[in-house]
Amino acid sequence: MSVFENDAFRYHESVHFFSDEATGLQAIIAIHSTVLGPALGGCRVVNYADSHEALEDVLRLSRGMSFKNSLAGLELGGGKSVIIPPKHWDGDPRHVGKDRAELFRAFGRAVQSLGGRYVTAEDMNVSVEDAENMALDTNHVVGLDVSHGGMGDPSPLTAEGVFLGMRACVRRAFKTESFKGLNIAVQGLGKVGWRLCEDLHAAGANLIVADIVPETTARAARLFGAKIVDTDVIVTTRADVFAPCARGSVINDDTIGALDVKVIAGSANNQLERGALGLDLMERGIIYAPDYVINAGGVINIAPEIKGQVNHEWVNKKIKKLEDTVGEIVDQAMKNNRSTNDVADEIATRRILDMRDAGKVWQPAFAKKISLQETA
Ligand code: NAD
Repeated sequence: MSVFENDAFRYHESVHFFSDEATGLQAIIAIHSTVLGPALGGCRVVNYADSHEALEDVLRLSRGMSFKNSLAGLELGGGKSVIIPPKHWDGDPRHVGKDRAELFRAFGRAVQSLGGRYVTAEDMNVSVEDAENMALDTNHVVGLDVSHGGMGDPSPLTAEGVFLGMRACVRRAFKTESFKGLNIAVQGLGKVGWRLCEDLHAAGANLIVADIVPETTARAARLFGAKIVDTDVIVTTRADVFAPCARGSVINDDTIGALDVKVIAGSANNQLERGALGLDLMERGIIYAPDYVINAGGVINIAPEIKGQVNHEWVNKKIKKLEDTVGEIVDQAMKNNRSTNDVADEIATRRILDMRDAGKVWQPAFAKKISLQETA
């Protein structure tokens, strides 16, 4: 299927394919929308089966970034980028070596060539060090280390947003705002999941955990008294809340019928394999916190960097608002018998379209320099 016929391409402003012979770089940057501001979205390295799979992934993710940034009230559009590991990395996206730095510098030049319409950051298999290599060749990269004027690791802020959004759902499902005695199943104890477990444990929740790394779950059992279950079992484990914090598509046709929770609230992106499953969740009486709303803490954390600022106070205030945002979406969905993800998509889209229709469309700085008189 060609790009233009691909459903995921709809409403995208542009898609850019880059290659660099010297480093073996093959990358795709998708810009979904720059109406609200420069298109912000991270860069991931994944060993895709082929370039079609890479394209599908980047298109889905860049649209998600437009929605996420819009709903978080940021002056940012949505975009995303993917890098296909070069052949000599033998399919290892975490390949280590001097050639890695060169590849990310080449990617930085690709980002720079878009003149600020796209701003990149870390995502899967892209570290702060990789981002700092990009920064040698572009000034349109954020998520840099504190020592280089960045806002630092966004994961603790993402976890805080998930905790608050989860509380909004718990309040509606169980008529309490206390986590005390609630059974919470957490899938993935990485940067976000671990921090979430710390906060939930401190708030008195009973944890049920799964991770592909046994040392991590053993540590959770030791420190939080968590019950460990198999990674195949965690999604359908009986609990009050399920927090997916590992990977996407965990709510799918195979798992949905076996879910045994009242709330789903976690950090993973694209938790629903397809949007229509949100309605099934609602009909089953499960409150689902839309992923891109509840996990916006990370992007909120890096937003000030785009303006060259470090502003923790602004970030903290904005993250606190996520509890109300998630709660309002759940209330609207319940009132109108709609899925929470559908309500969220509508709010996010409306903000973008309102700005577009009002002609308040963001323009990159280089475009502003040329006035009509000068060009006439
Ligand atoms: P991470 O890589 O640090 O952690 C992921 C964890 O999941 C790891 O411990 C890994 O071992 C585990 N895992 C992988 N496959 C698993 C499986 N099948 N079952 C159980 N555990 C499994 O990632 P992270 O930064 O903690 O992010 C977690 C999720 O949240 C990702 O989907 C990410 O895209 C999303 N997210 C993260 C942030 C952020 O600020 N880090 C922001 C928004 C969204």
